[in-house]
Amino acid sequence: MRMLRMRSKPGYLTQVKQSNMSAVLKSIWEFEPISRVELVERTDLTSGTLTNLTQDMIRGGIIRESESSHGSVGRKRMLLRLDTENYRIIGIDIGRNAFEVVLTDLAGRVIAASEGSTAGMDNPDSILDLITPSVQKMKALSSDSGNKLLGIGVSIPGPMDMQQGILLDPPNFPGWEQYPVRAELEKRMEATVLINDDARSSAFAERWFGLGRTTSHLVHITMGIGIGGGVVMNGEMLYGANGLYGQIGHITVVHNGEPCACGNLGCWETVGSIPGIMRNWTDGHGKTIMNFFEAVQRNDREAARTLEYTLSILTDALTNLFNVYDPDVIVMGGKLYPYLSRYMPEIRKRVQSRVYPFVRERVRIEASTFGTSQSAVGAAALIFDRLMREPLDMIGLS
Ligand SMILES: [Zn+2]
Repeated sequence: MRMLRMRSKPGYLTQVKQSNMSAVLKSIWEFEPISRVELVERTDLTSGTLTNLTQDMIRGGIIRESESSHGSVGRKRMLLRLDTENYRIIGIDIGRNAFEVVLTDLAGRVIAASEGSTAGMDNPDSILDLITPSVQKMKALSSDSGNKLLGIGVSIPGPMDMQQGILLDPPNFPGWEQYPVRAELEKRMEATVLINDDARSSAFAERWFGLGRTTSHLVHITMGIGIGGGVVMNGEMLYGANGLYGQIGHITVVHNGEPCACGNLGCWETVGSIPGIMRNWTDGHGKTIMNFFEAVQRNDREAARTLEYTLSILTDALTNLFNVYDPDVIVMGGKLYPYLSRYMPEIRKRVQSRVYPFVRERVRIEASTFGTSQSAVGAAALIFDRLMREPLDMIGLS
């Protein structure tokens, strides 16, 4: 008699296991170190299911057990925590003029980094040719130390089709329209590749590796050549119907103002970004943003006027964001932010005087955790985010 071999169904049961494992992993991340008993309470799973899931994850190397002598006298409790050491992630930030590649562990700690200029290059293939050796080096570093590579995240100017991994029509980024960046990198690197836009990647860095460890509602603003945003509510990154959620650089701040690359008039980006400031500064022709802030320091009148205008628009925008999104914290980063940071205590006071009185004392504005590497670390966070959602697939436990 022939035995029929049951085919394993990648259907409902696998989905249930995936979502249970994801819930357990997120709870461990959030509350570590945590006991199995506490996990049963937090996830509503049976202790048998929970034991199986945690055993799988220990075997897969993403969580580990440690003994604790706390608890009842004389009894050792086994506590669970994330194991950040077995896997590595590569994050690649591709900007308009430069790139950065980082190798991180599962806590977002940067183990190695390299960067380079892409100024004057407008061909995606040659830019990837330039970046590839750095990525290969990170891959080698990871395997030499006995670690497994979980995947490669890419942060790049949007807008994009994230499912297809294709850039749509990124402004000031010639040659990249319709470029299949994810497929191209997957082919070159033989690894899982995820892409997202630079502003949202930066928000992901904060969500998983920065202030998001202690708060579930945050808005991250990236200020530089453009102004971008990422909004995390209840721990979830929000995308909207067309991936435009949190495009805060494109809120209208000047009625009938300058045309913006997005098609609107008077966007915050047209006056609040580095090019916006340089256009407003009447002496700005041929100079840099550093020259502008030097002029401010010299008490140059025109520069001071432009700065005051920039800060008043920033105050309006931040007040709008607190009123619309109601975050615990607004996190600010990008190339422009280091110049603005000294004015933030004053800005905070101004915003406080404009929000609802009962939230005044809770107005919190912070600098982004990873400074100039925010979007490269954010690219790595894209992979970590996938691990948290689909641990079964990401570490091949199914
Ligand atoms: Zn716009």
